[in-house]
Amino acid sequence: MSIPQEPSFRESVDMMFNRAVALMDLPPGLEEKIRVCNATYTVRFGVRLRGQIQTFTGYRSVHSEHMEPVKGGIRFSLGVNQDEVEALAALMTYKCALVEAPFGGSKGGLCIDPRQYDEHELEQITRRFAYELIKRDLINPSQNVPAPDMGTGEREMAWIVDQYARMNTTDINAKACVTGKPLNAGGIAGRVEATGRGVQYALREFFRDPEGMEKAALTGTLDGKRVVVQGLGNVGYHAAKFLSEEDGCKIVGIIERDGALVDVKGLNVEAVRQWTINHGGVAGYPDGTFVENGAKVLEEDCDILIPAALEGVINMGNAANIKAPLIIEAANGPVTAGADTILREKGCVIIPDMYANAGGVTVSYFEWVKNLSHIRFGRMQRRQEESRHQLVVDELERLSGDSGIGWQLSPNFKDRYLRGADELELVRSGLDDTMRIAYQSMRQVWHERDDVEDLRTAAYLVSIDKVASSYKAKGL
Ligand code: NAD
Repeated sequence: MSIPQEPSFRESVDMMFNRAVALMDLPPGLEEKIRVCNATYTVRFGVRLRGQIQTFTGYRSVHSEHMEPVKGGIRFSLGVNQDEVEALAALMTYKCALVEAPFGGSKGGLCIDPRQYDEHELEQITRRFAYELIKRDLINPSQNVPAPDMGTGEREMAWIVDQYARMNTTDINAKACVTGKPLNAGGIAGRVEATGRGVQYALREFFRDPEGMEKAALTGTLDGKRVVVQGLGNVGYHAAKFLSEEDGCKIVGIIERDGALVDVKGLNVEAVRQWTINHGGVAGYPDGTFVENGAKVLEEDCDILIPAALEGVINMGNAANIKAPLIIEAANGPVTAGADTILREKGCVIIPDMYANAGGVTVSYFEWVKNLSHIRFGRMQRRQEESRHQLVVDELERLSGDSGIGWQLSPNFKDRYLRGADELELVRSGLDDTMRIAYQSMRQVWHERDDVEDLRTAAYLVSIDKVASSYKAKGL
């Protein structure tokens, strides 16, 4: 008997796409047009470092231009290759469609271990990579807008925007060429935390769906739920932090590169994060138990499993051992197509990546709009909103005094009611709204169609339908 082969990341995405389109009635040819990746550009460039020229390989893949600009992060990792970049670009197309961010899908990557270089060297490498992409309009406010991904963050985005501005000195919209920038370089409040925050909002919305909860055999609220998270980077750290500090979840396992920590009483996310920053990993952390084979902790008994590191970690080799009834894919592609089948058959509910980690691109969309409008959100309305609220408070106090009832508005209420929304509050409100609406669109398909058994297929159906409508409207 032949052992079934694990598909590549790109094949996994295609298989999941195929499962969904089999349930649709798309015109001939359109299905293929949506599935294929439009173009992938490979660049090899040299940078003089430590007295010699080192050659790097990078990619920028454009999956679908049914809307422009196209959007997708830039990843710095040794694992970067064409198959991975194309799979991630395809996911971006479906993700943007699902959360109604008006972009096509793209992704970029540089094959590099950023920890091997100091800051100055990384700046040289990033600027050179950006230069190669900018001169081909693969970074451009109206055509292709990157963002951070694994191994990159605000710092790299600041170098990229500066490089673009140097090469396009008269482009008034230069800042919109990339998102995820620091605030002082044209960024937006709440972008760093956005993907983790989106994971939190997605889980909250899932816990408001009684039929979904029943399918996962979960009851109650997020309070007290046992969570295992893999990857304490940007996404995993913020998701675990917010879920433990604001929703009462217990983080019973944290998996990092060098091993994992487990503690049934719950780990202190902030303290573990500080430890990993200072020591380069979780080993030696004074609380909890250290497990050298970190990946084994994915199989730990828990209520919610959050893979937030890299793709393919839940595969045909370990899917049968996963005990969590609910997996939320904070990373892109953490569950392979083979594992997805095994988990579905076990009754495990998976909140799919294209929805679960869409918080990043959602807030990137807000940042891009902010850059194009050249004004911070809330700047015009905030004080006007405050003065109108003040009018209501004054009137209530006058009425209460006049009538002799003597009601008092509590100081806490007054403070909160009188404060006009700043940019961070507006961003969180827009993100929460986006995550709720996108969940409801998947939920409707999931619960109402007998031929749709899982959330991933529902997500693909919703998003492919939107991409297809867009192509049809263009006459393609
Ligand atoms: P990051 O580089 O900030 O963090 C990744 C973390 O995973 C690091 O702490 C790293 O040490 C850890 N890690 C790496 N290999 C590991 C392994 N084998 N086992 C356990 N831990 C490991 O990256 P990120 O931005 O948090 O991205 C994580 C995932 O989320 C990726 O799949 C990315 O595509 C996805 N994502 C990120 C964003 C974003 O806004 N940053 C948005 C959407 C999706």
